Amino acid sequence: MKPIVFSAFIIFLASCGQRQKDEVKTEEKDKSPNIILLIGDGMGLSQVSSTYYYQDAVPSFSRFKHIGLINTTSASHKITDSAAGATAFSCGKKSYNGAIGVDADSTTVKSITEILKELGYANGLISTSSITHATPASFFAHVDSRGKEFEIARAMNKGIINFFAGGGKQFFKDSEENKDLLQQLANKNYVIDTNALTKTSFDLSKNYGYLLAKGGMPKMTEGRGDFLLNAFELATMHLSTNDKGFFLMVEGSQIDWGGHNNDAEYLIEEMKDFDKVIHAAIDFAEKDGNTIVIVTADHETGGFSLSPKVTEDGNDYDQIEPTFSTTGHTTTLIPVFAYGVGAEKFSGVYQNTDIFYKMLELVKEGK
Ligand code: MG
Ligand code: ZN
Repeated sequence: MKPIVFSAFIIFLASCGQRQKDEVKTEEKDKSPNIILLIGDGMGLSQVSSTYYYQDAVPSFSRFKHIGLINTTSASHKITDSAAGATAFSCGKKSYNGAIGVDADSTTVKSITEILKELGYANGLISTSSITHATPASFFAHVDSRGKEFEIARAMNKGIINFFAGGGKQFFKDSEENKDLLQQLANKNYVIDTNALTKTSFDLSKNYGYLLAKGGMPKMTEGRGDFLLNAFELATMHLSTNDKGFFLMVEGSQIDWGGHNNDAEYLIEEMKDFDKVIHAAIDFAEKDGNTIVIVTADHETGGFSLSPKVTEDGNDYDQIEPTFSTTGHTTTLIPVFAYGVGAEKFSGVYQNTDIFYKMLELVKEGK
């Protein structure tokens, strides 16, 4: 046994040496790309398909040439939740349902935003939920349970995120421990706006945070308007001033909530909103020439289907009746759409954790 173990160790050492050599080579190459990761929470293929049947606008999805599928199963369950789903993207680890930036043993795992920050990237997060909610939280916090949103809010104080916009104001002030958090963030170079997405001339040395609702942002059907699109434009305006590149995660959080509620109108209006920001991201990538746009989801919600309407004569194939099979998540494979620099890497069928590794590969290649 011993000689085999020994030679395996030598091979391991040799491969480490090889990796270091590659890293040195990276620095000689061109600038690494900006990464725009768009997560439609609960967005399966039927949710995507709804943009083809419920709007006149051309769906953004028709603009992608590189498409893949991911398996979203978590370390603890066949069906993931949004915390483990986002942690797979942000940290490259399959973890348990409820985990925020920690692995299956609750150990902190370095996130993509932390890795990229060290490489000089600027980071941005936008969501239509609280910014402390499971999906965005997994990109800046390390907490053993998604419910600890006050603790998650305090993680913003580490200054990893240079721009954020969403809801969740209450978690930044309404507890004994967090009552001075907004002031602490201001002391840490954050300009915090709790009223509106005010377009300012950005001071490059500052970070910007917009907390525009107590909890989640309003639904589209209740007047959210162009928050997501405007936040995206503000974020890219700010982040692209960083000459080393940026990482921006944008979440259409409430596609999931429409699914949980089995409310087709809620879901479809959220999808149409998300579709607009995908168009904007592709437009940005097209103009910029050194950006990758990745659109995917943590899981599907609702077992949503675009079914035929059932009439007295049977199934009417000319009329779509959106239907649901559950008020929970499902474990159907999830589509991945990629556009821009290195988009071809995202073709194929793979694990959700591979999204993390593919993004880092692109950064490392600096192409
Ligand atoms: Mg979410
Ligand atoms: Zn959900």
